[in-house]
Amino acid sequence: MARKLLPGRLVIASHNQGKVREIRDLLAPFGIEPVSAGELGLPEPEETGTTFAENALIKAKASSEASGLPALSDDSGLEVLALGGRPGVYTADWAERQWFEGEPGRDWYMAMGKVEGLLVEQGPDVDRSASFVCTLAVAWPDGHSEVFEGRVSGSLTWPPRGTLGFGYDPVFVPMGGTQTFAEIDPAEKHTISHRADAFQKLVAALF
Ligand code: IMP
Repeated sequence: MARKLLPGRLVIASHNQGKVREIRDLLAPFGIEPVSAGELGLPEPEETGTTFAENALIKAKASSEASGLPALSDDSGLEVLALGGRPGVYTADWAERQWFEGEPGRDWYMAMGKVEGLLVEQGPDVDRSASFVCTLAVAWPDGHSEVFEGRVSGSLTWPPRGTLGFGYDPVFVPMGGTQTFAEIDPAEKHTISHRADAFQKLVAALF
C-alpha cells in the first residue's frame, strides 16, 4: 500500500512556472502547503534518466533531500507516433536555443516547428497522432518514493493556436476535441490532461 501524504508543506520540485502553476491548482483541495523548489532556492539536478520515471525520481529525491520535506516532481513530454515516440524524455531539450550564443533559454515555437518539420518530411498523409505523458514522483526525506503515470491522446495541428497553457499546448488537440490545449480554459485542461490523469492516480493512492 502507498504511503499517505499528510497535510503540511510539500516541495514542488520544478523550476517550470507552467507546471508549478498547474500542480498548485491540482493540490488546492488537499490541505497541502505547496512551496516551489525555486522559492526555496534549491538547485535543479541534471536529468540523466532515460525514462520519465527515472527523471521524475531524480528531481523529487534531490528536492526532498535538500529541503527535508516531502517533494513532488513532474517529468513529462510529448510522444509523437510517426517519430517513434520522439521527442519523449527530450521534449524540453528540443526547445533549447543552443545556437543563439549568450541567449540561454527555451523557444517553444522553434520546438513545435521542429516537430512539424519532421512530420512534413513524411508527406501529406503522415499520421499526426501524439500523446502527452506525465509521470509524477513523490519522495520523502527517508528515501521512500511513489510514482504515478498519466497520458492524454490527441493529434498535432499546424500552425500553433491559442495563448493559454505552456510548452507544446498550442499544437496539441486532445482526442475528440477541436481546440488546442492553449485555446481551452485551464480549468478544463485540468480535467482531461496527462497531468490530471496522473494526479487522479496520485490522489487515490496518497490521500
Ligand atoms: P521536463 O519534464 O521538465 O523534462 O519537461 C517536459 C516538457 O514537456 C515541458 O517543458 C513542456 O515543453 C512539455 N510539456 C509537458 N507537459 C506539457 C503540457 O501540459 N503542455 C504543453 N507542454 C507540456
